[in-house]
Amino acid sequence: GAEREILTWDLFGRAGRELAQAVADDGYEPDVILSIARGGLFVAGSLGYALGVKNLHVMNVEFYEGVGRTLDMPVMLPPVPNAVDFSAKKVLIADDVADTGRTLELVRDFCLDHVADVRCAVVYEKPQSLVKCEYVWKRTDSWINFPWSDQPPVTARAGQVLDA
Ligand code: 5GP
Repeated sequence: GAEREILTWDLFGRAGRELAQAVADDGYEPDVILSIARGGLFVAGSLGYALGVKNLHVMNVEFYEGVGRTLDMPVMLPPVPNAVDFSAKKVLIADDVADTGRTLELVRDFCLDHVADVRCAVVYEKPQSLVKCEYVWKRTDSWINFPWSDQPPVTARAGQVLDA
């Protein structure tokens, strides 16, 4: 759609609780929450508190736009979590949005080789996503504005930089 989906911090607070509630209602008790940086960090933190899970890990994934259209693919950036940390564990992967789903697919497939159970929780899932997440707060085909990335990075103001 042409319209935008706006997620405010307020609404994100509710989304996190409701997403966690869906996980709990399903009877899934993850040992580990694996966040996909950076957007997934907020979701993972929220789910971690709401589900009482303290074991949080981070995976850094960058979507590289390759030359032309054939080489674009998400890649895992170091440090890649030690697979031993996940063996025989129930893992919940947390991210902000499954759009093409290729980022989640990469992380889920990495986990599938090593863990007992892996499931995905996202705030938003788009219809074309090739990963069908077990836990979705809202489905949309609009572009989403997230509260953590809807403003440009701050820059130092003149006179505010401390002398070294
Ligand atoms: P993928 O296409 O692999 O599912 O998504 C890759 C990443 O692209 C997401 O984790 C997110 O950072 C970014 N992305 C995809 N769709 C949107 C969107 O609608 N809004 C924003 N802000 N980022 C998006």
